[in-house]
Amino acid sequence: MTFRTLDDAPSLAGKTALVRVDFNVPMEGGKVTEDTRLRAAVPTIEKLRDAGAKVALLAHFDRPKGQRIPSMSLKPVVDDLERLLGAPVRFAADCVGDEARAVIADVDAGGVVLLENVRFHAGEEKNDPAFAKQLAELGDLYVNDAFSAAHRAHASTEGLARLLPAYAGESMRRELEALDAALGNPVKPVLGIVGGAKVSTKLDLLKNLVGKLDRLAIGGGMANTFLFAQGVDIGGSLAERDMADTAREILAEAEAKGCEILLPIDVVVATEVKPGAETRTVLAREEIGDDEKILDAGPLTVEKLVKAMALSRTLIWNGPLGVFEVPPFDAATVKAAQAAGQLAKTGAIVAVAGGGDTVAALHHAGVAEDMTFVSTAGGAFLEWMEGKPLPGVEALTV
Ligand code: AMP
Repeated sequence: MTFRTLDDAPSLAGKTALVRVDFNVPMEGGKVTEDTRLRAAVPTIEKLRDAGAKVALLAHFDRPKGQRIPSMSLKPVVDDLERLLGAPVRFAADCVGDEARAVIADVDAGGVVLLENVRFHAGEEKNDPAFAKQLAELGDLYVNDAFSAAHRAHASTEGLARLLPAYAGESMRRELEALDAALGNPVKPVLGIVGGAKVSTKLDLLKNLVGKLDRLAIGGGMANTFLFAQGVDIGGSLAERDMADTAREILAEAEAKGCEILLPIDVVVATEVKPGAETRTVLAREEIGDDEKILDAGPLTVEKLVKAMALSRTLIWNGPLGVFEVPPFDAATVKAAQAAGQLAKTGAIVAVAGGGDTVAALHHAGVAEDMTFVSTAGGAFLEWMEGKPLPGVEALTV
């Protein structure tokens, strides 16, 4: 995967860069409550400012669906952005047209403008060429620093990249390099861990991974479906029993492609999902009661998984191994995460993880900082794990 970065851009001094960022931040009562996404944009903005370019920021917020909805304005972001940059940020009440043009013209080289929510215009999500052209008229070059929005072919993520010289920003570059090291062009052997609730939501992902990995550990609720498909008694566990054939197909495909599948060999069961519930740890081939549910992987499974990690050079992880939100069913996820964090910290493996619940689980285990890379991109990360081309990234490739 080769893509253009800001280092490939000819002189930036005096130019206006249209920079697509992800400012879809958690907000309450008009105040930003979590600023990770704002901080992620800082390196690109600073790099452009240092080079003497004007920076015009394009972003979406929430789902106004082409309507101008005041509660979905990006204006409340300005104060936090100024604090993070230590520089003034001008706000333009529209992202195209005279208003945007006038505010951009009014700032000096190195100045920063935040343009209003691109989704106030219906042309954004339709990737309307006329709207993309209106955006393009505002700048000399385009920088995409929003990997998390790259799975969508919208005007500010895709159409615009076709109209101006287009580059990956610093956060986008870091993310693409990490993903490439994990799955695109990894050091072998590669181990995947896929957990979470359902097989049906991760079918494409599993099918893609069995063709690429040396080993794949399946955990969480979806492992129950695989165990059921193998004739294991799963009692009252969450499972998609109608997907047993699909699960068997995936196992057969993995075998044909030389991907070893690791399923739980022991499990933690309980009759209730509540904190501190009474549990039993049983071998996966033992009988369990109809009122019992498999809620976590057992210690033997974790031990086997940790051994597989130590045999690997690369780890890619999405989805918890159990109901990690409710202790003690977080035990397998926490132990496996700590082992991965330890190996990644010492440089023994490249460990890349992503997806909403996975990020929360790694924070819960206290190892998010130890991993090589943790993607907060959600949908884009999953589509990338499914092997799908991401339109916003494709538009940057050379
Ligand atoms: P996903 O969004 O598909 O990654 O699923 C994450 C959810 O799967 C979390 O909320 C977990 O609580 C849930 N989960 C993991 N293991 C199990 C299990 N054995 N039974 C029921 N839910 C589970």
